[in-house]
Amino acid sequence: MTRWERREVVVRTTATGHELTAPVFLCHGRNESPCAYLQANVHGAELQGNAALLALFDILEKESPRGSLVIVPRVNPVSANQQVGDYVAGVYDFQTGNNFNRGYLNLTGPSRSSSSACYVDVDSFASVNQGATIREIRDGFREALRAALSAIRSEAANWGVETKLEFALKIQELTVEADVVLDLHTGDRTPRYLYAPEGASAAVRAFGIPFVLEIPHRFAGALDEAAFVPWQDLANAFAKLGRTDVPRLVDGFTVELGSMNTFSLSQGAEDARRIVSALRHYGILDGDPDTPAHRMVACSVSDYRSIYAPAAGLVDAAVSPGTPVRAGDLVARLVDPSRCRSLPPRSRDAIVEVRAPEDGVVLLFHAFSSVSKGARLVSMMTKTRVI
Ligand SMILES: [Zn+2]
Repeated sequence: MTRWERREVVVRTTATGHELTAPVFLCHGRNESPCAYLQANVHGAELQGNAALLALFDILEKESPRGSLVIVPRVNPVSANQQVGDYVAGVYDFQTGNNFNRGYLNLTGPSRSSSSACYVDVDSFASVNQGATIREIRDGFREALRAALSAIRSEAANWGVETKLEFALKIQELTVEADVVLDLHTGDRTPRYLYAPEGASAAVRAFGIPFVLEIPHRFAGALDEAAFVPWQDLANAFAKLGRTDVPRLVDGFTVELGSMNTFSLSQGAEDARRIVSALRHYGILDGDPDTPAHRMVACSVSDYRSIYAPAAGLVDAAVSPGTPVRAGDLVARLVDPSRCRSLPPRSRDAIVEVRAPEDGVVLLFHAFSSVSKGARLVSMMTKTRVI
């Protein structure tokens, strides 16, 4: 029988003393592990993950999980309320200027304190645990990560916990327990796509999301990386000692559910179906994952390139997001009526064409249809392969 709990975590206390909280739903299935952590809407205008999580609630009403889930819709009330008129400026924190998805802690990286030590030293952990079973390694390393978070909190207590650190700790105190972390975002104007750790190909097939950006083993502050990088570091440390049977035991994904500022419950049911398939792959739910209904196109995140506007103007998209293009194909027109200098004025003089610099897939148009020269206009997958 499934048991549910609901908690509130305080992610910010405003200047007027109001606590901004996120609802945390804990779903205890037949076992505590494996555990999945899912959050939505860390960026304020990226709404669709909430629809996916609501649809997931309905699925979990009918199906008792084998493992457990921690589900946090509307995880960031700070960003969701950074609203000016109709517009939600939800990527960067008005208070600190930081991107809400770049402030997480790398728990196997160098410590923030003055010493040059890492929070958790994977090499010494691996050498002490060289003869341990996989289960002992998983439990012991998770305990070490938990202890690191608690040490960071107590070390910061004397001088006060900075806003950005408080947010990171609140989230990571939840994600540290998880075997798979799904951070539900959206792009600007884009189809659904997935950021996946390199080598997670079975999980990528279980998601069945048509476009995949593969993240190498490196940390740049995002939640998916904060989830999987320490465990990849650990696998690598064991491999250095000759133990190649220790895989990366935790994965993290950023799931991009279409365009920002859109919200659909019926699409949410479809999104939840894909998430459920991935949860089956990870053994959180029973049964086999779905086989992908179509081919998927992948590239490394380093081959995911932006075209910067060669001129200012209004953006007329020549292709829709998700379209494969060849080098030289027209991607967009930048239109500025002030470029009509000869009289009578002609519309063609206003137009600067933007063409694909390489073969690839036009994945994402940036949100605004009026751009300055040098603004990010379009992001393209290049050097793609079919998986
Ligand atoms: Zn986002």
